[in-house]
Amino acid sequence: MAGIRILKKKKKIAMVAHDHKKADLMDWAVYNRTALEQHQLYATGTTGKLLEDALGRPVTKLMSGPLGGDQQLGAMIASGQIDIMIFFWDPMEAQPHDSDIKALLRLCVAWNIPIACDRATADFIMTSPLMYTDYEAIIPDYTSYLNRQITEDE
Ligand code: PGA
Repeated sequence: MAGIRILKKKKKIAMVAHDHKKADLMDWAVYNRTALEQHQLYATGTTGKLLEDALGRPVTKLMSGPLGGDQQLGAMIASGQIDIMIFFWDPMEAQPHDSDIKALLRLCVAWNIPIACDRATADFIMTSPLMYTDYEAIIPDYTSYLNRQITEDE
């Protein structure tokens, strides 16, 4: 049976930006500073350091993305510790940690986590009335997957 995860009024927002997108994310975060004040922020290492400087408030910083930060965030998503992901990835450049990026995006979908990969989507999420109330997010039901029969050689 699908479960429910309550996203509290004060949301846990994770932020990640690739190098060519960091300025864009900082600009967005400063513009939305007041709205963001009501929420708890998490970020990969370098993004988090820049956010702290730009916003003048503490951000929970994980490792730098390519050094494991993306995977740390993925683990937090899988264990229900992140509510929303703002992930400005660079569509014009391959990254050394492309597999980690793919894994992070996949886990957001697997666990029904809203993701914004560009400013327009981030604006739509930030201005949603659901940002200011508790929200019951459906946790997808993986029971049949977990109980699948593993057969020996076909
Ligand atoms: P960074 O990582 O914030 O440490 O630069 C971003 C990323 O995951 O690419």
